[in-house]
Amino acid sequence: MHGGRDVANDASTVFDLVILGGGSGGYAAALRGAQLGLDVALIEKDKVGGTCLHRGCIPTKALLHAGEIADQARESEQFGVKATFEGIDIAGVHKYKDGVISGLYKGLQGLVASRKVTYIEGEGRLSSPTSVDVNGRRVQGRHVLLATGSVPKSLPGLEIDGNRIISSDHALVLDRVPKSAIILGGGVIGVEFASAWKSFGSDVTVIEGLKHLVPVEDENSSKLLERAFRKRGIKFNLGTFFSKAEYTADGVKVTLADGKEFEAEILLVAVGRGPVSAGLGYEEQGVAMDRGYVLVDEYMRTNVPTISAVGDLVPTLQLAHVGFAEGILVAERLAGLKTVPIDYDGIPRVTYCHPEVASVGITEAKAKEIYGADKVVALKYNLAGNGKSKILNTSGEIKLVQVKDGAVVGVHMVGDRMGEQVGEAQLIYNWEALPAEVAQLIHAHPTQSEALGEAHLALAGKPLHSHD
Ligand SMILES: Cc1cc2nc3c(=O)[nH]c(=O)nc-3n(C[C@H](O)[C@H](O)[C@H](O)COP(=O)(O)OP(=O)(O)OC[C@H]3O[C@@H](n4cnc5c(N)ncnc54)[C@H](O)[C@@H]3O)c2cc1C
Repeated sequence: MHGGRDVANDASTVFDLVILGGGSGGYAAALRGAQLGLDVALIEKDKVGGTCLHRGCIPTKALLHAGEIADQARESEQFGVKATFEGIDIAGVHKYKDGVISGLYKGLQGLVASRKVTYIEGEGRLSSPTSVDVNGRRVQGRHVLLATGSVPKSLPGLEIDGNRIISSDHALVLDRVPKSAIILGGGVIGVEFASAWKSFGSDVTVIEGLKHLVPVEDENSSKLLERAFRKRGIKFNLGTFFSKAEYTADGVKVTLADGKEFEAEILLVAVGRGPVSAGLGYEEQGVAMDRGYVLVDEYMRTNVPTISAVGDLVPTLQLAHVGFAEGILVAERLAGLKTVPIDYDGIPRVTYCHPEVASVGITEAKAKEIYGADKVVALKYNLAGNGKSKILNTSGEIKLVQVKDGAVVGVHMVGDRMGEQVGEAQLIYNWEALPAEVAQLIHAHPTQSEALGEAHLALAGKPLHSHD
């Protein structure tokens, strides 16, 4: 126990808020709650920061950045720079990655302590609608927040052995660059590892049962990514589901439903993540659940009045910033502030592969479903016309989806570093901006943000560096 009060000596304490799980959702609620004067207990069995900091967002982005440097070394001659790529020192990559994590971890621990959150290390279990049992004692609260997150899932009959058949948790600490890898699942996690490993020199094949890579994105973004991956030599098989995996003498063989076979040194299973809720007392306390997820309303309230839930444990987008937003919403609601439900379409989404895929709002297909095909306008701006993208030698597109004569309801971008443009895109979507309003804003030259400006100039009927 560190931080606020010593519950070990004060079992009669009733906290305003007891939080089970110190990942993005749980710790955001703790920090905001404490800031608003709530007496908060945060219970965590492993490390504050959860998946995102220790096994998710941060380590994967460090690997991707190391991969980017490897690619730049290989391609340096195109820019007139003489460098030789000698190879990947995986221990060095892990040292860099772990250094980033430990710096952020220390900062977060300091923040939790300085906000006077009572931090309790241990595995907790919901023991009543107003308490969590941990380390043999009962921690009581006027309100309980469930934030136990998620873990990697597999498919029926496919056992993750942590050696040749691995999850993202194992992939992040792998002590070698695999010569070849099959990645089962072409969603965000799958394509990020495909990208990093290819940059490190692996021979990578992605297997995706649906029609496209990153299948929840606008189809145009998926197709652009597929084209870019093909150019990079990342192989993929789309539209056929996995049937079985078997060990070979020195690796794994994967067979698909149509009989097609693939062999590689390792198989990374990236078919999604499932909620952590089994055996934690949720059902016993009457919390309504669906396939392991805790069900909540738009204010993150469960059906039990004293219990809320946030993050990957609830069936909303599995993103760290979604967890932050949901945690903050709960803290503010409990502190008596006015809160508004989250517009999940307005949450930016970035896939950090090379090239990046970034989006906010809805896809063209969804817009047509909602508004009718004749009421939707889509415009594509090619990064070939953007000076900074040319300098960086990246290609891609920005696609805007607009309700005819109305607001921009979707921004879909593909290209290196386009994830950094999603901040402006989210303002455009969330402020329901009209193309003509965005077209009035002057973008710095030469930046990639200019591409977003130019796309809106074109949509407003006055294209500059693009053909009419
Ligand atoms: C490889 C990978 C890459 C990702 N990349 C990104 C990205 O780039 N951007 C992004 O936004 N999101 C990314 N994510 C998703 C992001 O990490 C999650 O959405 C986020 O961590 C969810 O936060 P959470 O608080 O709900 O759960 P978690 O972060 O999983 O935290 C839950 C915490 O609860 C603790 N816990 C569980 N049970 C108990 C118990 N009984 N007692 C005490 N403690 C308990 C766990 O130890 C854990 O620390 C990535 C995920 C993965 C796996």
